[in-house]
Amino acid sequence: MRLQDLSAALLDLDASHRLRRRAALESPQGVDVVIDGKEYYAFASNDYLGLADHPALVSAVQQGADRWGAGSGASHLVAGHSQAHEEAERALAGFVGREAALLFGSGYMANLAVITSLVGRGDAVFADKLNHASLNDGCLLSRADFHRFAHNDLAQLERLLSESQAPTKLIAVDAVYSMDGDVAPLPELLALAERYDAWLYVDDAHGFGVLGAGRGSLAERDLNSERIIYMATLGKAAGLSGAFVAGVKPVIDWLINKARTYIFTTAMPPALAAAIPVSLRLIREGEERRERLRQLIAVCRERLPASCSTGSATPIQPVIVGSDEKAVAIAQILRDNGFWVPAIRPPTVPENGARLRISLSAAHEPSQLEALLDSLIPLLTA
Ligand SMILES: *Cc1c(COP(=O)(O)O)cnc(C)c1O
Repeated sequence: MRLQDLSAALLDLDASHRLRRRAALESPQGVDVVIDGKEYYAFASNDYLGLADHPALVSAVQQGADRWGAGSGASHLVAGHSQAHEEAERALAGFVGREAALLFGSGYMANLAVITSLVGRGDAVFADKLNHASLNDGCLLSRADFHRFAHNDLAQLERLLSESQAPTKLIAVDAVYSMDGDVAPLPELLALAERYDAWLYVDDAHGFGVLGAGRGSLAERDLNSERIIYMATLGKAAGLSGAFVAGVKPVIDWLINKARTYIFTTAMPPALAAAIPVSLRLIREGEERRERLRQLIAVCRERLPASCSTGSATPIQPVIVGSDEKAVAIAQILRDNGFWVPAIRPPTVPENGARLRISLSAAHEPSQLEALLDSLIPLLTA
């Protein structure tokens, strides 16, 4: 794209209801946010447990900064690795029941790291069609043969695996699909990984903290295997920022040596790492929050019309409306009524799959959700 073409291309995006604009919060993340001086009930963040502004977590970051300073100053392999990172990694590995864990600056970087380090030219990756963009980018960057199977289609996946002669195979899935809220059939995927000698890479960005008593989607299904590599982000239910990969020790040692998004980037601030054990404690003690979430989820499942829902049993409750224009219009009406719910459009979701993405937080009052649904549901049939 040349400079002289950008303005026209942006106008085209706007005309097709695909121009993205950012809203700047004037408040901390939470269920009551202020934007442009106006208060909204927000159903938009991934802060599922309401921890992003939790006093204990805020204070842990403050104390972390007092103890460790503001910045890490270098990459992990050079001089930026601290005891705060070490302790966080030990705590994370223990929490999810794996041998070892490795911290990353973000889930995006963790996904690039794992896939590009384990597969390369001549190998093969098998990815669900609804996987997060960062998994897809990792697959593309790896230069492995990139096979995408229809969403949760185990038969198609098995066909692709059985036809592959690749020396290393890797199956990559979201454990909870970020725009649909449904879950991957992890036990069946593990069985296929075993049958075809493949890695199973599980991105649990939306399950960690929420499912499996907070320990995530593997714990929920009681799955453990040397061939599973687990990734969860710390910027969603955990209320912080960053991500970690967990698995057997040789995998973690390999990533430390080979993963370019680990090696060539500055370590996360140690103050943040120091807050991770506190986040894990809040997650562990968060059964009441998870119970509140389950109640909110039940309300959505009861009230949202089946014709536009995905049957999600997680805090991600999409309302599929189809056209971009309709999604944007409904989001605007909701905004006028004091609700912040993002309209999600292609390419984040498939064509004609534009939707409102309601995301629930344990900090929502049931009355806030009822008010949102009272406002939204009549718009769906209009
Ligand atoms: C948010 C998300 C990521 C990226 O994690 P960040 O820490 O935000 O970079 C990766 N995978 C999935 C499924 C996600 O939802």
